[in-house]
Amino acid sequence: MADWNLNLYLDRAHSTLNVDAIQGFLHSLGLEPQVKGDFFDVNRVDMDEVSAALAGVRVRDLNLEDSLNISPAETDVSQEKTLLKSNEPIELERDRSNIYSGFHLAEVLRRYVGSGLHIIFTSRLPATFEGTRYHGRVIVADFPLAIISTTGVVEAPARQREYYIRQAAYHRAQHAGLQVPEEREFMQELEDRFKEGFIGYDDLRMTDVVKGYTLQAAFYLLFGEAFCESPGCMLFNAHTQAEMIHAQIESGRLCKRHQTMLEAHFSCM
Ligand SMILES: [Zn+2]
Repeated sequence: MADWNLNLYLDRAHSTLNVDAIQGFLHSLGLEPQVKGDFFDVNRVDMDEVSAALAGVRVRDLNLEDSLNISPAETDVSQEKTLLKSNEPIELERDRSNIYSGFHLAEVLRRYVGSGLHIIFTSRLPATFEGTRYHGRVIVADFPLAIISTTGVVEAPARQREYYIRQAAYHRAQHAGLQVPEEREFMQELEDRFKEGFIGYDDLRMTDVVKGYTLQAAFYLLFGEAFCESPGCMLFNAHTQAEMIHAQIESGRLCKRHQTMLEAHFSCM
């Protein structure tokens, strides 16, 4: 018989993510996930092997499809090894050199899991190629596992238009040689000004947002359907922070169809 047990793992997600609260939330819906702990520890992953594999699935050129870091430099591999030994969230490099090809990352992780269904919360940023470039993702699902990225929550859905207009104006002024505040200081002020409109790394709303993405993962793994077209459903595939905050925080519920689908699943068990 197929093993439908849902296992939750951590891979250095941001500290505002409370996995026990997510487990409790799924439990309240009738699901019975188990919190397994650190993905690489629990699955007794060989550090040398996996650090080379992880370095190899970084995206080299965000504008080029299938542009993997096939022959990773020794520094990339040793950086991965250091990350594996650390408990700190994985910071997105300013040059974006540590973005991972989402489905290749899932393929690496899939080598290590046993039977059952698996959801891995990580601060690694997965991306998939769409249109003309790679785009960061909050969730990458590839049966029997799904990756949910806390960095993705912050970086993937677009922020307010006004935010980008001000950021672009700053960079134009900087390039024109005008006297502007130091970049770090400017960015901090910009983030503070708009922070209610997007989820930040240390945002207390992180767990509530990730609850919805965990449901998307669970729906995909159990029913083969992750997304909904209703903007007020937790399964809505949000492209902007405003859409994500609306679906996960302001609404925080499933649409009628998906609620019924979940209830029907338990009534036939
Ligand atoms: Zn729905």
